[in-house]
Amino acid sequence: MTRPPLTNMQTRDVEALLHPYTNPATLRAEGPFIVSRAEGLHVFDAEGRRYLEGMSGLWCCGLGFGDAELIETAREQLGRLPYYHLFAGRSHEPAIELAERIKELAPGAARVFYQSSGSEANETQIKLVWYFNNARGKPQKKKIISRAKAYHGVTIVSASLTGLPYNHRDFDLPVDRILHTATPHAWRGAEPGEDERAYAARLARELDALIEREGPDTVAAFIAEPVMGAGGVIVPPEGYFEEISAVLARHDVLLIADEVICGFGRTGQWFGHQTLGFKPNAISMAKQLTAGYAPLSAVAIDAEMAAAVEDNASRIGVFGHGFTYGGHPLGCAVGAKALEIYQRRDIPGHVRRIAPLFQARLRALADHPLVGEARGLGLLGALELAPDKSGRAAFEPAGKVGARMAAELQARGVILRAMGDVIGFCPPMIIDEDGIEELFAPIPDALDATL
Ligand code: PLP
Repeated sequence: MTRPPLTNMQTRDVEALLHPYTNPATLRAEGPFIVSRAEGLHVFDAEGRRYLEGMSGLWCCGLGFGDAELIETAREQLGRLPYYHLFAGRSHEPAIELAERIKELAPGAARVFYQSSGSEANETQIKLVWYFNNARGKPQKKKIISRAKAYHGVTIVSASLTGLPYNHRDFDLPVDRILHTATPHAWRGAEPGEDERAYAARLARELDALIEREGPDTVAAFIAEPVMGAGGVIVPPEGYFEEISAVLARHDVLLIADEVICGFGRTGQWFGHQTLGFKPNAISMAKQLTAGYAPLSAVAIDAEMAAAVEDNASRIGVFGHGFTYGGHPLGCAVGAKALEIYQRRDIPGHVRRIAPLFQARLRALADHPLVGEARGLGLLGALELAPDKSGRAAFEPAGKVGARMAAELQARGVILRAMGDVIGFCPPMIIDEDGIEELFAPIPDALDATL
């Protein structure tokens, strides 16, 4: 097949940009997909073709793309106070208002700290955990346990927490003090005859053994996405967090919930940890915190951590951590408005009402010969493409079939993300029955064309 030559804009792109998560050689041959505008659930390419954005951009635009209130809030805030910071005791009202709203929604949150990205939020989490354990006289207790296939970001420590090989390879990661335990994915990981609860109990025993091996006095925290996102939308087995939490409590290991994807209604509750029934000591938030309209992330810590951190910083004389754009007034104003909209429109309630239809449409695709497993929770979903349905087989080389499927979908007007051979779904949370119909209608045909 001969490819059309790159457009002028595509040529300018490949000559000027290095793209994240992109094969540069493929990009030079095929050219980037250039999006020129967006509206509601849809984005439009440079030629004006319309696509349903089934991933909310990168799991962030929960209110879709044209929310007039968010746009007006951003405009107003830039006019009134385009920049200020929180360093050296300075503050501004949007930062205060958003922190109050987070405290109101996040159970146990005592203090909020801002950054710009999810990676920085998790970087802050680990620094806070180390600071906390120094403050409480446990300087040896510093190792952090994450999970294979986790995604926690790309800065040095957050990329180390991430459990995906391409985030480590040739970047000399992970750094020391970061350990990984198993992915909680029953379809791939459970033994024949082992039910979800027994599998969850086994994973908890494995975690316990890891902590014992390393020495409980050296292990500080466990970090987890309630539902794993970029690793392939992996919903943990029943009882998983209950079992894991008991192990962590026994060894005085903190539990950090990375709610960067699951936060603010995505699973039908305000936070994923509420849907999955566990109580973290600290929470990372980003993406839907501002509905994607401005970069901002937040870390919330519980009263015990907050008190120890504040006491230690007072003793030292300063809390020596912070980012120029942490708590940017634009991000905070948009974030406070987004949270107000989620509450006023009861977005978690809407997700609870619409998710059964979304999940039913997804699971109806499980019989297709290319689909190994169809899974999800709330308005998160995945089709894992595989040679069979055993949970033991995978396509070689990984990712080719997934990429073909994503291209077939895009040709039919739907944007979904291929994560290897897993097709991820994360539509704007405002999606209705018609949107779900539009999202799923082309999928059987795209699966057939990919076969
Ligand atoms: N944590 C989770 C769960 C994520 O999904 C992501 C990004 O996808 C991050 C952290 C990193 O966020 P950012 O890309 O804003 O640094």
